[in-house]
Amino acid sequence: MTADALLTVRGLVAGYGAAPVLHAVDLTVAPGTIVAVVGANGAGKTTLLRTLSGMLRPSDGQVTLAGEDLRGVAVEQLVRRGMAHVPEGRGVVAELTVDENLRLGGLWRRDRADATRALDEVYQLFPPLANRRRHLGHQLSGGERQMLALGRALVGRPRLLLLDEPSLGLAPRVVAQIMALLRRLRDDTGLTVLLVEQNVRSALRIADQGVVMALGRVVTTAPAARLRDDAELRHAYLGF
Ligand code: ATP
Repeated sequence: MTADALLTVRGLVAGYGAAPVLHAVDLTVAPGTIVAVVGANGAGKTTLLRTLSGMLRPSDGQVTLAGEDLRGVAVEQLVRRGMAHVPEGRGVVAELTVDENLRLGGLWRRDRADATRALDEVYQLFPPLANRRRHLGHQLSGGERQMLALGRALVGRPRLLLLDEPSLGLAPRVVAQIMALLRRLRDDTGLTVLLVEQNVRSALRIADQGVVMALGRVVTTAPAARLRDDAELRHAYLGF
């Protein structure tokens, strides 16, 4: 399993100051799968994604993407190697148009023709964005901003999408649309997703694997369906 993994994390230790938030985190993400990271507030889920995307430097541990060691690799190099991070709060540039925001996602790509193709594909994937190309970021609804943040990541044709709380602040109908889209991207294009979600039920419904975190540690890793059905575990760590 590990030999074929797209992402392998071993013994990852990271935090914001002297005291670590992540304590020797281990996880594996197989290509073409959705792995949901779930757990209570403060468990370290966002810190994990920030560390993987290079925003935070780990003090120990190893991360490999398709077998390549990522230690010391700069953020822009991580993006070139296929890591795309959609942070909590989404990071859409409010003063730029939808089109400009999306183009930012492909700026670094040398293959201009394919970057344009990827942009067209994103517009097909998200018709509301196609209808609002010239609208500014701040004129969009919460759901449209989430689509834009996702779309911008997809324009870079990532191998691994790190998604932090895509459902935050969205109506249930929009959450369902976003989750269905992630599942479709996995099934149709083989996209690999590491998904952090407070909305545990929605996340485990579309995920292949679930990783439960508590106090900066991984306490359980199991097929998502098993986590959904394990009442004891749900009560202990997931609050439902
Ligand atoms: P949430 O869903 O509430 O964001 P989480 O599982 O994503 O929870 P993190 O945001 O990773 O958890 O937070 C883990 C711990 O790190 C918490 O104790 C939090 O207070 C601390 N922390 C988070 N961000 C910072 C920061 N910028 N500086 C210092 N400590 C931080």
